[in-house]
Amino acid sequence: MVPVIALVGRPNVGKSTLFNRLTRSRDALVANVAGLTRDRKYGEGKIGASPYIVVDTGGISGDEEGIDSVMAEQSLAAIQEADIVLFLVDARAGLTAADEMIADHLRKQNKRYHLVLNKTDSIDADQAEADFAVLGFGEAFHIAAVHGRGVRGMIDGVLEENKALNPEEFDEEYETETVKARGIKIGIVGRPNVGKSTLVNRLLGEDRVVVYDQAGTTRDSVYIPYERFGQEYTLIDTAGVRRRGKVHEIAEKFSVVKTLKAIEDANVVVLVVDAREGIVEQDLHMLGFVLDAGRAVVIAVNKWDGMKEEERKRVKEELSRRLEFINFARIHMISALHGTNVGHLYESIDEAYECATRKLSTNQLTRILEDAAKIHQPPMVRNRRIKLRYCHAGAMNPPTIIIHGNQTDEVPASYKRYLENTFRKVLKIMGTPIRIEFRTSE
Ligand code: GDP
Ligand code: GDP
Repeated sequence: MVPVIALVGRPNVGKSTLFNRLTRSRDALVANVAGLTRDRKYGEGKIGASPYIVVDTGGISGDEEGIDSVMAEQSLAAIQEADIVLFLVDARAGLTAADEMIADHLRKQNKRYHLVLNKTDSIDADQAEADFAVLGFGEAFHIAAVHGRGVRGMIDGVLEENKALNPEEFDEEYETETVKARGIKIGIVGRPNVGKSTLVNRLLGEDRVVVYDQAGTTRDSVYIPYERFGQEYTLIDTAGVRRRGKVHEIAEKFSVVKTLKAIEDANVVVLVVDAREGIVEQDLHMLGFVLDAGRAVVIAVNKWDGMKEEERKRVKEELSRRLEFINFARIHMISALHGTNVGHLYESIDEAYECATRKLSTNQLTRILEDAAKIHQPPMVRNRRIKLRYCHAGAMNPPTIIIHGNQTDEVPASYKRYLENTFRKVLKIMGTPIRIEFRTSE
């Protein structure tokens, strides 16, 4: 399971700076919690060997009275959701009353937390750390978020420890619940009330679907393995309607962390949106996250039933405009309630999975690259033309194409896009982002 790291600390200690270093998300997902002025920000990242999710809790200022108001409600929620808490302090400012209040609070939580001394650039960090020794938090990580110094080591350290402290926590859970993800993992995500639960029941309720007895739960989402026409699937149900094969509603709030974990863990994400509300900001943020994670994606526009013709036309126009940036994703107008078009979703899920995991040969890829470079030569840089020599496949899901050549650092973004589009067109890759990486070999 992808671990969740929460950044906690008073304002101005460098949480946002660290958040930006740790995530590769173009858009942080924001949990809009009614009544709260400061939002939590969620992002996904990978700077070492394994991915993680980061939550920036927003500032906890020491000005409020009493611990309850000091720890803003949303920060509490973020700590609850986290596997690892990074408690940031400002090494230059030294220990403050607000730091002490936050520390008091953290000690009462049943969580693993680490003290992180930020802004250790050009000061004596060991001396600064002495100031924080009274907190009794043990050895601190020394970082300078603004330069990225110490950040990689810190992440490696906490993730390593997390793994060591949870030896096969996942497997154990799976053993007791005897759930195993099989075949294509499909993550069903979307905002509250768009119809995820209804769709999950539809997808499983089709005649030929066999729901295994051993469907069980994890702390996060419900994993439901099943088979359809001989193909194995595992539904990752973030709405959490089914347990152990039985259907019963569990009143569960929408959780951003659950959604992000489901996206990370899925092969193909089905993003459910509500036709009556159209594409809203949060839908776009979720799509941005799917792209950053490199997942294959199918868009299900739900509640298509009972809509007037002109309204349908208007929604379609809006969809094609707002989803232009992800034009490789198949869009289906469905009614989860009536089951209309739900079967067709599987065609696109299968297609997206096939495209995301297809084996691409070095010969074929290199030929496409050569043809593309003949039609549009790469530009000249410092009087020398960029040369792209050959390429081969890297990882799958997302399909990654590694291109070797000289001056590859100078390849303009527009040319990279041109190559990506060419590979997509020639190879007929639908439903998944493609990653292009360059390697310089002079
Ligand atoms: P937040 O309120 O905790 O999210 O803090 P910010 O990330 O907004 O940072 C507050 C200020 O500290 C900004 O001016 C940052 O540029 C600065 N800052 C953050 N990290 C470092 C660091 O490692 N070294 C130094 N010198 N300044 C930093
Ligand atoms: P979730 O919060 O995303 O899991 O959404 P639910 O599946 O609980 O659905 C929210 C509401 O939308 C429920 O009242 C459903 O009956 C309704 N709903 C779901 N799918 C459809 C649909 O295709 N058409 C219509 N008209 N209503 C739907």
